[in-house]
Amino acid sequence: MSTIRNLLNASQVSADLKTKAANRLITITDQAIGVAEDLALSQGVQELTLPPRVGIGIALQSAVQSVSALLSAASVSCNRAAPPADIEMKVDASGRLIYRCYHSPAHEWDLTGSPLP
Ligand SMILES: [Zn+2]
Repeated sequence: MSTIRNLLNASQVSADLKTKAANRLITITDQAIGVAEDLALSQGVQELTLPPRVGIGIALQSAVQSVSALLSAASVSCNRAAPPADIEMKVDASGRLIYRCYHSPAHEWDLTGSPLP
């Protein structure tokens, strides 16, 4: 299972996790990432037909938004360009979960924290 630490270990990614609640926030974010991962995998099951596939897709989008909100709550930001930019979780064109910053052009990472080309 992926954790927020994968992203935080990426170079030029910072976060504000110095508060007493930081460990709790990390735990909740990791759980949200796990739900998003499970839903992304479930959506790829070919045997699923409508309407379960639609419901899983909606749940996946909600889970991705939850992760993004938690990344924002932890002030996770990209420092690969100035000024720093927020980072969100996205589903890319191939259905894979990635992290993407708001820089233009955007920087992207896979869930292991490895930068994407
Ligand atoms: Zn960036």
